[in-house]
Amino acid sequence: MGNRIDGKGFADRLCEQLRTEVEALGRSHNLVPCIAVVLVGNDPASHVYVTNKVKRCQQLGIESREHRLPADTSAADLLSLINELNDDAAVHGILVQLPLPNHLDDEAVINAIRPEKDVDGFTLINAGALAVGQNSLVPCTPLGSLMLLKDQLGDLSGLNAVVVGRSNIVGKPMAHLLLQENCTVTIAHSRTRNLAEVCRQADILVAAVGRPRFIQGDWIKPGATVIDVGINRIEEDGRNRLVGDVDFDAAVDVAAAITPVPGGVGPMTIACLMYNTVAAARAAHGLEAPR
Ligand code: NAP
Repeated sequence: MGNRIDGKGFADRLCEQLRTEVEALGRSHNLVPCIAVVLVGNDPASHVYVTNKVKRCQQLGIESREHRLPADTSAADLLSLINELNDDAAVHGILVQLPLPNHLDDEAVINAIRPEKDVDGFTLINAGALAVGQNSLVPCTPLGSLMLLKDQLGDLSGLNAVVVGRSNIVGKPMAHLLLQENCTVTIAHSRTRNLAEVCRQADILVAAVGRPRFIQGDWIKPGATVIDVGINRIEEDGRNRLVGDVDFDAAVDVAAAITPVPGGVGPMTIACLMYNTVAAARAAHGLEAPR
C-alpha cells in the first residue's frame, strides 16, 4: 500500500518556518512583507480563495491589503490600481484573483504587474525566466508540487517525469521545474496518443487535467510517485465531494506515494504564495531568497 503524501502537514511546517522568518525580518530589518490582493466581482469561489489567503497572511505576520472591486470595474480603473501598487514600495507582492469578469482581459491585467511583485508567477517575464532556467517567482501550485516531490524523493535527477496537462499555470511550469531538476520530462495533453502507456513510463506522474478520477490505477508504474493537482467537485451518493484527477483508491495500491485530494497539493498552493511573498519582500530589500 502506497504512502499518502501529507501536503497539509508539509504546508503547515513551511508556514511555521515562514512565520519565524517574518518575525526575524521585522526585528533585523524593520521589514513587514506585504501582499496586495485584488478581487474584481462577486464570484463566490474567488471570495473564499481570497479570504483563505488573507487568513494565512495574518497567521504568518504578513500584511495583506485587500482591494475588493465591483464587477463592473473598468479596465482603466483596474490598471490604474495596479500601477499604484507597482509604485508603492511598501507592497512587495500583487495578486489579482482570476478569473476576472468577461469584459476584462486577464492577460493584459496580469502583465501590468511588475515581475518582481508577481507572486503568482504568471507574467510573461516570469514565465520566460522559468523557461530559460533563471531565478524567478514561480507559480505556486507547481512550486508546491516540486517541494513535495523533493521531500519524498530527494534527488530527482534522471527520473522519468510525465506531466498530464499543459496549462500555463500548472502543466508547463511544472514541466520546466522538473527539467531543472534533471528529470526526463514528457508533457501529455488531450491529443496525446496512448496516454495510459505514456503514464506507465513515469517514475513521477503529475496529473493536472481537471477531470475527476481520470488517471486509472493500471496507468501507474508500480513504485511511482504521484502528484494529483486536480480539484474536482462531484456529487456522489447524494454528497458533494472533492476528488482529484487520479483514481486515488486504485492508485494508492500501485504507487509508492501519492498526494490525496483534499490535503495534498491544495494546501501547498497557499503556503507557496506566502513563500513567494516573503521572497519578493527580501529581494526588494536586497536580501537573498530564503533557503
Ligand atoms: P486547464 O487549464 O483546464 O488544463 C487542463 C489540461 O488537461 C489541458 O492541457 C488539457 O489538454 C489536458 N486534458 C484535458 N483533457 C484531457 C484528456 N482527456 N487527456 C489528456 N489531457 C487532457 O486546467 P488547469 O488550470 O491546469 O488545472 C488542472 C486541474 O488542477 C484542475 O482540476 C484544477 O482545478 C486544478 N488546480 C488545482 C490547484 C491547486 O491548488 N491544487 C491549482 C490550480 C489548478 P489540452 O491543452 O490539449 O486541452
